Amino acid sequence: MKYRNSVSNATLPYILGGILALLCACTQKGNPAPLHPHFTLSMNQLLDLIQNTPRETGVKIKDNPQQFLELLDGILHSDRELVLLVDKRHPLPKEYEPKDLVSLDSYEIRTSRPALLLRKKAAQALSQMAKEAKKEGIELLVSSAYRSFQYQSTVYKRVVQELGQEVADRESAKPGHSQHQLGTAVDFGSISDSFTGTPMERWLRTRAWEFGFSLSYPEGKEAETGYRHESWHYRFLGKDATQLEREFFFGNQQRMLEFLHIHWETLQKVHRFSSSSH
Ligand SMILES: [Zn+2]
Repeated sequence: MKYRNSVSNATLPYILGGILALLCACTQKGNPAPLHPHFTLSMNQLLDLIQNTPRETGVKIKDNPQQFLELLDGILHSDRELVLLVDKRHPLPKEYEPKDLVSLDSYEIRTSRPALLLRKKAAQALSQMAKEAKKEGIELLVSSAYRSFQYQSTVYKRVVQELGQEVADRESAKPGHSQHQLGTAVDFGSISDSFTGTPMERWLRTRAWEFGFSLSYPEGKEAETGYRHESWHYRFLGKDATQLEREFFFGNQQRMLEFLHIHWETLQKVHRFSSSSH
């Protein structure tokens, strides 16, 4: 049977002309087509921006630049402090204190002691996560949340006394360098290696990202994060960020936060909705 072309010979040149015009518009210098309506970035500009990111992340971004920018759009619209890089080389100011701390006592969350504090967004997400876990027979237990600079000072000194400086530095942050000072980090269960492999830990490991929580110090990443594996320590980053971490940074929170730290100002410049006063 002969193939019957549905496009008549008369309309074909118009279609080809249209395609050609589109191709020209996309490759024209000075007026490249943006990849996402909320960003001014063309594909080439995006490739320039990501040229120093680890190769496997670059490959993922090239494969799906629209989704990458969609998630970045959500992060840029949200709160910078949620994704602020705080590690051994990037401290918070001594006086830094989150403005919207709330007591976990006013939420349906099991805690190991009263009056633990978290930022409101993190507490709300935690409460939602606890409800969902409960439906599946897991009762989450929160053992530590917000810690002020002064409190972290006490914790750090105690750990140094107990374990010595070198061991202490693998598991306890110096004051100013703790994610707990952000009011978005949570320690679950026993805060020790015995937590690993428990039903609560396994549930969190597979489901926490859906609620915007991310494991900060995964196994085998000590060289990057500066801390040994802490199966109990999660940080609330928001759902766009945990999805970005999962799909483009292979579950590596440190790398994603470093990426955002390095490129934040540039990303704001190419984001149509960021306020320039930031
Ligand atoms: Zn912790």
